[in-house]
Amino acid sequence: MGEYMFRGTENKIKKILKCGVCSHELPVPEHHGNPMSWVLVGSFRKKELFKCKDCGYFMEIPLHCGLTMLYSEVEEEEEEEEDANA
Ligand SMILES: [Zn+2]
Ligand SMILES: [Zn+2]
Repeated sequence: MGEYMFRGTENKIKKILKCGVCSHELPVPEHHGNPMSWVLVGSFRKKELFKCKDCGYFMEIPLHCGLTMLYSEVEEEEEEEEDANA
């Protein structure tokens, strides 16, 4: 009963790495406290790398089960949660 107010929940984009073999998920690595950006570099053989937006540092995509993990972005609806980070 009563009014149901839809609170403007921001859908957060959660960036994850997923193993194509065993579906294991890992968070995207961070550098300087921010998740690194997924980039494609190279002209002929494109190579996936992670880049830090702050310092330009490049990092190889981690491997799992012997294969490069797949980068994916999933929309994550934020549930009511208290932000413990101050
Ligand atoms: Zn795996
Ligand atoms: Zn950095």
